[in-house]
Order: sequence, then structure tokens, then C-alpha cells
Amino acid sequence: TSILPQPRYSDTASAFIASPKRLLIDGEWQSSSGEKFVPVYDPSSGIEIGAIVDASDADVDRAVGAARAAFDDGRWSGQSPYYREMTIRRLADLIEANATEFAELEAIDNGKSITAASQMDVPGAIAQLRYMAGWASRLDGESVEPLLAPSGAFHGYTRREPIGVAALIVPWNFPLFFAALKLAPALAAGCTTVLKPAEQTSLTTLRFAELVLEAGFPAGVINIVTGAGSGAGAALVRHPEVDKISFTGSTSVGKMIAHSAADTLKRVTLELGGKSPVIVLPDVDLGQAAQGVAGGVFFNSGQICTAGSRVFAHRDVFDALVEGIADAARGIRLGPSLAPDTQMGPLVSARQRDTVMGFIESASTEGASVVAGGGQLADQGYYVSPTIIADVSPEMRVMREEIFGPVVCVSRFDDLDAVVKSANATRYGLAASVWTRDISSMHRLVRSIKAGTVWGNCHNAIDPAVPFGGYKESGLGREHGREGVLAYTETKSVLVAL
Ligand code: NAD
Repeated sequence: TSILPQPRYSDTASAFIASPKRLLIDGEWQSSSGEKFVPVYDPSSGIEIGAIVDASDADVDRAVGAARAAFDDGRWSGQSPYYREMTIRRLADLIEANATEFAELEAIDNGKSITAASQMDVPGAIAQLRYMAGWASRLDGESVEPLLAPSGAFHGYTRREPIGVAALIVPWNFPLFFAALKLAPALAAGCTTVLKPAEQTSLTTLRFAELVLEAGFPAGVINIVTGAGSGAGAALVRHPEVDKISFTGSTSVGKMIAHSAADTLKRVTLELGGKSPVIVLPDVDLGQAAQGVAGGVFFNSGQICTAGSRVFAHRDVFDALVEGIADAARGIRLGPSLAPDTQMGPLVSARQRDTVMGFIESASTEGASVVAGGGQLADQGYYVSPTIIADVSPEMRVMREEIFGPVVCVSRFDDLDAVVKSANATRYGLAASVWTRDISSMHRLVRSIKAGTVWGNCHNAIDPAVPFGGYKESGLGREHGREGVLAYTETKSVLVAL
């Protein structure tokens, strides 16, 4: 397969990428106290196209200070819920008005196809903001009757209060979407925020920051610092004035954050890695299931924490399913992110490509067979073809570790008890899917699988209203839905003796 060159950027995107990058602190664009920058690459071509600020500890301190002051004087949490809701909605409207530009910037910066960016990332970000905006006016406490006191002896109630300053740390696979997903509930709850996008993909967040100013948030409510995880990210995590951390990224960094947060007992939400099982029973429509399973792992070039990367097919349908997934994989059009007919773009970075290629090579070395794909395409850009690996055993690296690329391992099973054991034989527990028309088997499996989300006859169905998060080492807490916004509040109990 030869990869076409990346089409020309629009003038708007070129102008934005070329503009000097700064940090959004206390309602204005501020320069860094240091002189460090991180290069920005276009994964479709591998060409360096610009640079973002690598924020210093002093920059992070200024951003947290601005968020602290904005929280403490009540300029955000002290407003009416309706004001907060409408301000968040204005931000969503502004993104919608600039949707084309956001989709193009996201495709350039991350490598995902412009079709996916326009159909998923940008509308997804808007939906997150609009959904969570509504919670600003619905965070009511409750009236409570104490158990041990005579009726009427106390007036008891609870209040939902914002936790305070929230540090929001975002990965590179869905940059704008995750920025919105983290900011929206924090803002709805009344927290003030410092957001750090991933250093590989900060462009859409910086464009978003311009709209934050336009939407009319009070200064200091949303601060945005860019830069390395080990620098700006770690500085945010250990800052004593941060009250809450919400992090999405790798399990290894998540654990470091949990340790560091323990010093001041910061509240922590962690969305981490996964190794999600996909279980296919023999009664399925094989054509549909193969398409669905392929979509479940190859979406976003496999760079999604819920990727269905371990497929367990019933012995009776194993061969046909592998063939079906291989057909689907061969049918995926790889190409540069901005080409309108590209279905799968490159991986985000040369490093990610090398990691994924390392996994594929380890599978061959350990005795598995590569049924389809398996290659790095083109010298330029970070392309890896959709890859199917069979003849795997549970101890192989490809079966144990998160690959975060377009690679799926397929193995066979004989009965439900055995497949439950195999599905749960992982330190992760983010998601799973079950493919069958037999409702009894479906619900038996749903109950037995240790994962935060189990999908039936679909995969990667993620929705702002539906709680999302991991069991085991896939995370801590839930995002989305009511639980997602409550994670930015403390409950205050009040008992007034009458
Ligand atoms: P990463 O953990 O290295 O980076 C994620 C973010 O954390 C980036 O913004 C990075 O700058 C920052 N960071 C890195 N080190 C830090 C530190 N010491 N202190 C504070 N912040 C730090 O992850 P990655 O390799 O860039 O992203 C891929 C990983 O993210 C995969 O393992 C994937 O499973 C996971 N992920 C999980 C979800 C989820 O919802 N569960 C979603 C997307 C990605």
C-alpha cells in the first residue's frame, strides 16, 4: 500500500498553527517564565509543523494561583446555576460555530481522519459540554431525617459543594473531546480549573482557549497550561493548592499520580488503560459481528482505552470470524488524516508506532501467527496496518499488555465458564463486549465480567449520560452522567437542633 501525501492545510489552520503559542492564565494570554517549547508534528507526514510552550513550574504555580483566587472569591461558584449553565452552553455554541476548523486541526495534530474528527470528536465535545451544563442547576442536596433523634428534634439536610481547584490532565487520543469531558462537569459543579492537554496534541485545546475568552468566563475559572507530563503535569499534581485531580492516561502515570496526591489527600479520578475482552458466541450473524468486532478495535487506529483488543470466539465460529475480521481489516482505507476518503490515519507519534511494531514483533517471536496486516507502511508518517494475531496464549505480551494500536488478538473458547475466566485474566477492567442473541448467556456474561462497562452486540458506545470508568487497574471513580459531576463535589451534612 502506498500512502498518499497529506493534502494542503487550509489557510485558517496554517495561520493558527503558525501563530505564537502562549498559556491561558487568569483570563489572558501569558508568556512562559521559561524559554522551553515542545515541537508539534503532523503524524501523517512526520513533518515538524510548529511548537507549543513547555510550561515551567512557575507557570503552573501562576495558573493554580489564578484558579485558587477565582475559586476563593466565589466569582464562579457564587453565581447562579443558570449563569454557569448558560456560560458553558455559550462555549459549546462557539465550538459548533467553528466545528470545521476544530476537525481539521484535530486531524492534523493527532493523525485521525478528518471524517472521524468531524463526526465524533467535535460533536462529542459539544455534547459533553451541553449535557454537563444542565447539571449546574440540578446539584441539589437532600433533606435527611436522623435515625436516632425524635422526629422534629433536628432540621437535617445535605449540600453539594464544589471541591475547589481541579487539575485536569488529558491524553492525546481524543484531545478536544477529553478537554470538554473534563472541564464540563468541573465547571458545572462550580470548581475552577487548570487544564493540561497532552504535549503531543495541544493545538485544539489552544484554539478552544480562545473561545473560552469569547464565551465570557470570569478570569481564572479556566486556565490552560501546555507542556510535558514530567514537568508541567507533575508540577500540577503536587501543587498544594490543587484540591482535585482528574487524569486520563496510562496506568503507570495514574499510579504515580495517586501516590503524589496522597500527600495532601487530593480527590482523584483516574481513567487509565484497558485490555478489553470481546466475546463472540456461536449464534451471532457472523457478518455483522465481524464488522462490529473490527470497528471495536480499529476505531481511532486502536488508540482508544476501550479497544476490544482480546477477542474470544466460540470454537464453532472461530475460523469464520477471523476471516471476517481480516476482510474488514483489508477493507479499511489507510491514508493521511486530511484526505476525505481516509478511514484510518497514522498513529499519533513515531514513538507510538515503534511501540506497536514492537508488540507485533514480540507476537511472532513468542510463536503467534499474524493473520493480516502486521506492517509499518511508508517511510514518512506513522502508519501501521490493521493487524490480526491468532494462535495466542494468555502469557504472551500481546495478550497481557495494552498495545494502544490497530492490533487484535483472537483466541477460541468452548464454554461460558472458561471464557469468563479468560476474559477476567487481566489486571485491567475498563470495558468488554458480548456478541450473542441468546439473552440468558448475555446476562450471565454481563454479571461475571469484571469491567466498568459491558456492551451487548456493540462496542465503544460511549455516551455523556452513561457512567464510564474502570474496575481494577483501569481506574478510580466514574466520569459522565450524574456520577461524573458528583465527582467534583463534596457532600456537606447539616444538622440544626430545633
Ligand atoms: P500518559 O499517561 O503518558 O499521558 C497522559 C497525560 O498525562 C498527558 O497529558 C501527559 O503529559 C500527562 N503526564 C505524563 N506523565 C505525567 C506525570 N508524571 N504527572 C502528571 N501528568 C503526567 O499516557 P499516554 O501514553 O500519553 O496515553 C496513552 C495511555 O492513556 C494509554 O495507556 C491509554 O490506555 C490511556 N488512556 C486511557 C483512557 C481512559 O479513559 N481510560 C483514555 C485515553 C487514554
